Amino acid sequence: MVQEYIEIRGARENNLKDVSLRLPKRKITIFTGVSGSGKSSVVFDTIANEAQRLLFENFSLFIRNLLPHYPQPDADAMENLSMAVLVDQKPLGGGSHSTVGTVTDNLPMLRLLFSRIGQPSAGTALAFSFTDPAGMCPECNGQGRAIGVPLDVLIDHTKSLNEGAVIAPGLTNMERGIYAQSGFFDNDKKITEYTPEERDLLLSSEPRKHTGLPYNTYEGLVYKFNRKYVARDIQTLSPRIRQQVEPFLQLGPCPLCKGARLNQAALNCKINGYNIAQLAAMEVEELLAV
Ligand SMILES: [Zn+2]
Repeated sequence: MVQEYIEIRGARENNLKDVSLRLPKRKITIFTGVSGSGKSSVVFDTIANEAQRLLFENFSLFIRNLLPHYPQPDADAMENLSMAVLVDQKPLGGGSHSTVGTVTDNLPMLRLLFSRIGQPSAGTALAFSFTDPAGMCPECNGQGRAIGVPLDVLIDHTKSLNEGAVIAPGLTNMERGIYAQSGFFDNDKKITEYTPEERDLLLSSEPRKHTGLPYNTYEGLVYKFNRKYVARDIQTLSPRIRQQVEPFLQLGPCPLCKGARLNQAALNCKINGYNIAQLAAMEVEELLAV
């Protein structure tokens, strides 16, 4: 492949004095020099600025008015620029809310795009922000992670109900026995052989009336465990129960948004079959293919 270059001639941003240079494209170029020698003036104020400006010129006037305004940098000529992804000079950090998307400043544009043409519409750009109440997943408050317990702590998949598959800590024997008593399952069938529907009924079922059981209620094992021990302040549990349960609690993906951090309205809104979380998680190469 022929090597292409970004050509800059006569750059005069800030303290630059008619700087001309060629930067090879698709290569990593490193700018070094003493403080104040103009590294940032070339990279941020000249090249990146012009690339953003050119990019934004492609948008309609309406969109452009919503975007930051980039004046034309002071230089004689700049050629062969392509779209720039700016990564800030500031040290990375900024807490558990940061992703590659937020650091490189692409997410605000994706949000704008989805609010404009995503279907079915979920609302304004804020409805696609996991830091805004309008967009954040209600289950994990936009963190993408939630306290939970690994499934194999609750159930031994290699066993049947009759063999004692239900092993959840913190439950009484009577509570563990409810699944075999329910009449919903073949009590000799190993959990690994359950159909998706049977698994769902065993693990995730919301409370339903069942007159054949103590308390007249049936609820899925994970649902029950979460209700009793996860979806409440652990400080309110008795010390004995805490000791049984606490070692198994760990931070995992949020069960509702699966780590995408957005509410379901935002995640159901799609462009070309992709939602914003899928696009934001893609690497640049994949994204270009879309
Ligand atoms: Zn969530």
